[in-house]
Amino acid sequence: KMQGVGNGKEEKILVLVRLRPLSEKESSRAEVSDWECINSTTILYRNSLQERSGLPTAYSFDRVFRGDCTTREVYDECTKDIALSVVGGINSTIFAYGQTSSGKTYTMNGITDYAVADIYDYVQKHEERAFVLKFSAMEIYNEVVRDLLSTDNSPLRLLDDPERGTIIEKLTEETLRDRDHLKELLSICEVTFMLYKHLLCVFLVEFLQTIESSAREFIGKGNSTTLAASVNFVDLAGSERASQANSVGHRLKEGCHINRSLLTLSTVIRKLSKGRNGHVNYRDSKLTRILQPALGGNARTAIICNLSPARSHVEQSRNTLLFACCAK
Ligand code: ADP
Ligand code: MG
Repeated sequence: KMQGVGNGKEEKILVLVRLRPLSEKESSRAEVSDWECINSTTILYRNSLQERSGLPTAYSFDRVFRGDCTTREVYDECTKDIALSVVGGINSTIFAYGQTSSGKTYTMNGITDYAVADIYDYVQKHEERAFVLKFSAMEIYNEVVRDLLSTDNSPLRLLDDPERGTIIEKLTEETLRDRDHLKELLSICEVTFMLYKHLLCVFLVEFLQTIESSAREFIGKGNSTTLAASVNFVDLAGSERASQANSVGHRLKEGCHINRSLLTLSTVIRKLSKGRNGHVNYRDSKLTRILQPALGGNARTAIICNLSPARSHVEQSRNTLLFACCAK
């Protein structure tokens, strides 16, 4: 189903749904789940009252994962190929979308770890080539970009570079030593992230490879060239914030800005899902500006829509599935 690299065809966005299990706390307050994955592509809402309400009960996507599936399964089946496309010079983005507590961070941290491990595996098997892996992390809150690896939390500016596109001024770039180094950096991010507002964070792994002259016929003239690509892991703001209509004051401003990032993202994704030609409004939000090279063109994209199974969350779960349907 997935297309190969460089065949000139544009990729469809891969849309996945992941249901998490009920937490102990939810079970202990006798919370129940009305969601059921009836096969690998369809999720069903089973509730006799709802069935009579005329709302849809079955939703289909590229893949749905039941509550007892592991992050490893999600990664292996759906996001591994996409993350590993960086080694071939193809940019990619993997998003986690969903309400707060639906499992976005749980999913994204696991996937980032597995992906970096696989990239290292590849590096070790290709010792004839020189690789550098760089890691950066940022959060975007109220359309302000901050570095998660720096103790200085002043806003970072986005600059337009004629050659490299949008660059983030002064963003820390750590050269990854190994997988443990990634774990170390992720835990720094987690701490910084909690100090801030835990809204939207992007882990960017840039993969640079130097291809020596032995492969010259493949790359053209010169003795060596550097092939750069990045894979972005995006833990989005809780989607309930985008739909908070009656917020006031500070909350209102926050709502609007989060709205901007999430809404622009949905618009961009909707356009991309209908074919990647034509004008796409990447510049309407910081997130889409930063991710532009890893969203359009031949970049590969996956969206993991995380769902809480709890009956009390059904409203938000439906909103998440509506977003997922738009991305198909
Ligand atoms: P979010 O980032 O969307 O707010 P979290 O990833 O923090 O949500 O998940 C909320 C809680 O549920 C955490 O305690 C997390 O460990 C747990 N959790 C999430 N997804 C799963 C899962 N698939 N299996 C087991 N526990 C999960
Ligand atoms: Mg989270």
